Amino acid sequence: MNTRETLSVTDSGNLQIGGVNVKELASLYGTPLYVFDKAYIKNICAIFSDSIKRFYGNGKIFYASKAFSCKEIYRIIKEKDLGADVVSVGEIFTALSSGFAAEDLCFHGNNKSASDLEYAVKQGIGYIVIDALSEIDDLNGICKQLNRRQKVLLRVNPGVEAHTHHYIQTAKPDSKFGFSIENGDADIAVKKLVNADNIDFCGLHCHIGSQIFEKTSFLIAVDKMTDYYKKVCEVFGAKLSVLDLGGGFGIYYTDADPKFKYVDYADYIKAICEKLNDCVKSKSINKPYLILEPGRSIVGEAGITLYTVGRIKQISGIKNYLAIDGGMFENPRFALYQAQYTVLAAEKGLDKPTKSYTIAGKCCESGDLIAENVKLPEVNEGDLLAVLSTGAYNYSMASNYNRNFIPPVVMVENGKSYICVKKQDFNDIVRNDI
Ligand SMILES: *Cc1c(COP(=O)(O)O)cnc(C)c1O
Repeated sequence: MNTRETLSVTDSGNLQIGGVNVKELASLYGTPLYVFDKAYIKNICAIFSDSIKRFYGNGKIFYASKAFSCKEIYRIIKEKDLGADVVSVGEIFTALSSGFAAEDLCFHGNNKSASDLEYAVKQGIGYIVIDALSEIDDLNGICKQLNRRQKVLLRVNPGVEAHTHHYIQTAKPDSKFGFSIENGDADIAVKKLVNADNIDFCGLHCHIGSQIFEKTSFLIAVDKMTDYYKKVCEVFGAKLSVLDLGGGFGIYYTDADPKFKYVDYADYIKAICEKLNDCVKSKSINKPYLILEPGRSIVGEAGITLYTVGRIKQISGIKNYLAIDGGMFENPRFALYQAQYTVLAAEKGLDKPTKSYTIAGKCCESGDLIAENVKLPEVNEGDLLAVLSTGAYNYSMASNYNRNFIPPVVMVENGKSYICVKKQDFNDIVRNDI
C-alpha cells in the first residue's frame, strides 16, 4: 500500500481516506462505492501546474478526462487552473455543463465524425487534434460554413513507444493513432493543413504510452518532436507555436510499481522541461507553448473502491473465490488486460494475511475477476473490502452489464464526504428502453 497522510490504516486496523473511516462511508452510501480523496487530486494538480511554470514558464496542464469524467472533476481541475482533454461530444458536454470554458478543452480522437467536429467548433473548443486526412477536409468545410476559424494540433507518431518499465523505438508505425513521422505520412497531413484556409495549424501532439515510469522515453520523444517541429516550420512554412507531449505518467498499483509521493511527479516535468529548453536552444526553434496531458496520475491513486464480501467458495486444494458486490461492470480492467491491484480487508488492517483469495465479481463471465491470488487475513461474508488505485479508468469504463447499477461516486476531504455522482436505480436501467 502506498500510504500517505490522507490514506492510511488507523491504530484500530481500519482503512481511512481523506480523514474518514471507510466503514462510515460504506454505511452512509452503501457498496460498491467509488471514493475519491479530493486533497490528493488538488495537490497533484498543483504539483503538475507549478512544475510546468517553474521549469519551463510557457505552458499548461490539460487533464486527460477520459480517466475519470463527471461534472465534479471538471470543477475541481478548473479551480486548479488546468485545461482538459476530451475524446467525445459526451465529455465535451459534461465539461461545459460543469462551467468549464470551451477554450480550455482539447478534443482528441482517431474517428471524430463531421457532426462531432461541428459540435466542437460551435462550442468554441480550444484545440482539435487532427488524426485523419479526411478530417482536415471536413473540419475546413465546417469552419468555412460557420464562418469560424479553428485552432488545431496534428497528432504525430514519433516512433517511440513506452511501456511501464521500458520503451521501444519503432520504425514501423502500427498504431491506430497519429501520423508516422518516419514513413512520411505526417508530411502529407502537414501539407494539407498548411493549405487549409479556415484552420489555424498551431502545433504538434504525441502521446507515447501509459503507465510509464522511466523518463528516457519522454526525453527521446522531446528530441524527435522538436526535430519534426523544426522541419514543419522551416520546410513546410507552418507557423507553429504549440507542442503537446501527451500524458502517460505511471502510478502505484502494487509493489511491482514505485511508490511515488505526489511531489515526485515534479521530477518528470522537470526532466521534460529541461530537455525541451535544451532542444529549443540547440535547434534554434521558437520556444513552443508546452502542453502535457496527465490522466491516470491525477486521479488514479486518489480513488479507491469499497465492496462488501458476499459468497465465499472454497474449491478444495485449488482456489478460494471471494465474491464481491461489484465486478467488471464497475471495474473492467482485470477482464480487459489483467490489470493488477492492491486489495485490503478494510477493517482488518492489523491482522496477518494468512489466506490466498481470488476476488470475483458478480457478473456472468468466468473472466469477471478483480484480482487473483491476493493474500488477506481470513475474510467472512459481510466484511468490507477495499481495492486501491481505482480512480482512473474504472468509473469512466463502467457499464450496465447484466443490468447492474453503476455505483455512486463520493468525494472525501478533511473528514467530510459528499456525493458527486448518484447511484443508479431501476429507472436508470430502463430509461431508454421503448
Ligand atoms: C489517454 C491519453 C492521455 C492520458 O494518459 P494517462 O496514461 O492516463 O496519463 C493523454 N493524452 C492522450 C491523447 C491520451 O489518449
